[in-house]
Amino acid sequence: MLGLMQQGPLLISSLIEFASRHHPDGEIVSRRVEGDLHRSDWATVAKRSAQVAHALDGLKLSFSDRVATLAWNGYRHLELYFGVSGSGRVLHTINPRLHPDQIAWIANHAEDQVLCFDMSFLPLVQAVHARCETIKTFVALCDADKLPADSGIPGLISYEAWLAGKSQSYDWPSFDENSASSMCYTSGTTGNPKAALYSHRSTVLHAYAAALPDVMGLSARDSVLPVVPMFHVNAWGIPYSAALTGCKLVFPGPALDGKSVYELLESEKVTYAAGVPTVWQMLLGHMKPLGLRFSTLKRTVIGGSACPPAMIAAFNDDYGVDVLHAWGMTEMSPLGTLCTLKNKHGSLDHAAKMKIRLKQGRAIYGVDMKIVGDDGQELPWDGKQFGDLLVKGPWVVREYFKGEGGDPLKVDANGVGWFPTGDVATIDPDGFLQITDRSKDVIKSGGEWISSIEIENIAMAHPAVQMAACVGMPHPKWDERPIVAVVKRPGTEVSRDELLAFYAGKTAKWQIPDDVVFVDAIPLGATGKMLKTKLREQLKGYQLPGS
Ligand code: ADP
Repeated sequence: MLGLMQQGPLLISSLIEFASRHHPDGEIVSRRVEGDLHRSDWATVAKRSAQVAHALDGLKLSFSDRVATLAWNGYRHLELYFGVSGSGRVLHTINPRLHPDQIAWIANHAEDQVLCFDMSFLPLVQAVHARCETIKTFVALCDADKLPADSGIPGLISYEAWLAGKSQSYDWPSFDENSASSMCYTSGTTGNPKAALYSHRSTVLHAYAAALPDVMGLSARDSVLPVVPMFHVNAWGIPYSAALTGCKLVFPGPALDGKSVYELLESEKVTYAAGVPTVWQMLLGHMKPLGLRFSTLKRTVIGGSACPPAMIAAFNDDYGVDVLHAWGMTEMSPLGTLCTLKNKHGSLDHAAKMKIRLKQGRAIYGVDMKIVGDDGQELPWDGKQFGDLLVKGPWVVREYFKGEGGDPLKVDANGVGWFPTGDVATIDPDGFLQITDRSKDVIKSGGEWISSIEIENIAMAHPAVQMAACVGMPHPKWDERPIVAVVKRPGTEVSRDELLAFYAGKTAKWQIPDDVVFVDAIPLGATGKMLKTKLREQLKGYQLPGS
């Protein structure tokens, strides 16, 4: 017997329709490429999304055709989010920090038909447009009078001219909720990038889940600043969850330095922010010497790479801001776990609570996870044994776009396919996940594993350390031994021996690195993560002491 409830596909257009009806005056504030602050609201976003849809119809774009963006976080990008997907096309957000060759490769692989770009990326588009074989229309996200006369890009049109005169209402089509809605390429540190192709269903379910109190916990009372870019896994789904909850959105545009972010947090009375650790490092680095305080910020989600304990402590103890440590990946839309305490943790003392908050947190309903050993057998949730982390759920990839890289799923003894995350983790009896490493970064010493994240976290707690990256070096006896590459905080000093002594009592003796190498910078990838492959190349020729 079937249930007798109404059926309707879960579509992204329903989010913008809801937002315009139920919180039309909900604010959308954007710092623009031009440097000024622009103010919009959900009613206006809905109208202009409708104009985007009409503009795409005018180009005779078919269902599922790809529309690419090279854009910062801002109101025009938000309008494209809803106008492109809502009308049945696929929004392809390209990461502008990728190498131009990779951008051209990705645009061709995705068979993008249209490219909408912020004016700050004009030189980039000028460099690659001739190699983008499928793109027929280039749209500059600017006013008509800001369009350069001779850009060299054939048929370049301004976004405002493109929308002008189009109807502000659109009869959003209904279709299968499993249809593709947007796509995002992984950073491709190994081989060509692969694309996660999200669906309307996966996106709407993820938006619901993200808004839950123990997940992002967004509400109509929040003013939310996503520093995490809209070109990287849909800004962790915040634009969709914002439409659903009606929170105020504050977009930083290209100004991600500590001073600009701080000013925006204060002027727009931001209560909630989200971003990767490097951004918060810049913010705290700006605030500390000036003795600045937050007047409204209450919570911040930090994820994308491990959040150093010193940062959680600084936000929590010095500024009274709750840190929600989060873990996820492009292939997971991206949210997998968030670290919020349970009722039973209420009576723990501060130090015990902090120990839990360092972990990446508990699975969100909708994400199943398990850790397995080398033999594929599931490992217990004892918080000690670590293994390969596998996940499944309605917003986890089943396969990559165009079957790139073959079938990614690992089928278990019950015939169920699980996505191998490439991460190594422990899970404790309360279900708190702790990532110890990327599997390719794990350090194997004398048959035991050493967590590079733990070694880095200890170093980063030292006041003279700005950034630390731990890698394994070949060792004749132990197979590999850890060393830590360190960038010193400007104006501070620390010696190799002082730093090694700093490890005493903080980790097992045999896990203490064999050496410290001081470097000017740690190489970062397009998503702001440490590129350990590059670091290892830089350290070629390095000899471990005594090896
Ligand atoms: P890419 O895989 O292309 O580098 P993603 O943003 O999808 O880009 O990266 C996902 C990976 O980032 C995860 O598999 C994990 O290794 C790492 N990561 C994300 N969040 C955290 C976190 N809170 N702690 C540790 N590692 C994290």
